[in-house]
Amino acid sequence: MLIDSHCHILKNEYSNPDKVIKESFKSGVDKLIINGYDLESSIEAVALANKYENVYAAVGIGPENIDDLKESFIDKINELSKLKKVVAVGEIGLDYYWTKDNKDKQIYVFKNMLKIAKENKLPVIVHCRKAFLDTYNLLKEYNIKGILHCYSGSIEMAHKFIKLGFLLGIGGVITFKNAKELTGVVKEIDLSNFSLETDSPYLSPEPYRGKTNSPSNINLVAKKIAQIKQIKEDEVIDITGNNVSSKFDL
Ligand SMILES: [Zn+2]
Repeated sequence: MLIDSHCHILKNEYSNPDKVIKESFKSGVDKLIINGYDLESSIEAVALANKYENVYAAVGIGPENIDDLKESFIDKINELSKLKKVVAVGEIGLDYYWTKDNKDKQIYVFKNMLKIAKENKLPVIVHCRKAFLDTYNLLKEYNIKGILHCYSGSIEMAHKFIKLGFLLGIGGVITFKNAKELTGVVKEIDLSNFSLETDSPYLSPEPYRGKTNSPSNINLVAKKIAQIKQIKEDEVIDITGNNVSSKFDL
C-alpha cells in the first residue's frame, strides 16, 4: 500500500488542495496523512480527512509556528485530537536550525503536544532539525511512539529512535546527489523501520527538485529506496505501507 505519511495539502500551500488530493489518488497513492502545523491548518486537515475516506489528519503546533501562540490553541489541539480521523499529533517537534533563540518556548510547546498524544493514546509525527538530543530525551521521557519525519540523522541516532518505537520518514531528500549520510541509513537499516513521505509542497524529489511537490511524486522516493537496497519497488511500497498502517491504525 502506497502511503504518504507526511504532507501538507492545505490552502496555505496550494490554490486547490482538493485537486491535489484527487490527483494523488489517481496516480496510485492509496492513503495520505495530512499534517497540520498550527491551529488553523490542523482544523483544515481534519475537515479534509472527514471529506475523503483515505485521507487522515495529524494535528499539532510545530516549532516554526509558535510566535503568536495562545494557550487556548493547545486546548483546541487537544479537542481536535479526540476526533475519529485524527491518527496522530503532528507536525510537532524541535528545530534549532532556523529558530535557536526560542528554544525554551519550543520545548514548552513540544511537551504540551506530547502530553496531548499521551492523553489521547496517539502516536506523534515529529520534526527534528539540529535538535536530536533534546527530541530523543523528551520522546523517551513521555514514552511515545510515531514517525521521525524527514529523517536527517546518523545511523547511530536512527537505531536509538527505532528502539524507542519510531519509524524513520524518508522523502525526496534521498534522491538528492548530496544525500550521502541518508543513503547510508537507508542501506544499513531494515525496511521495517521506514515510512514513505513527500512533505508536499516541499522537498520535491529529483528530477523535480525545487518545484512544488505533490504526493504523486512519492513513487520516485520508493524507486530510489529500492535502488539503494537492491530490491523491488513493490516491496518498498508494501512494507512501508504496512509499517504506517499498523503504527497509526489506519
Ligand atoms: Zn512537514
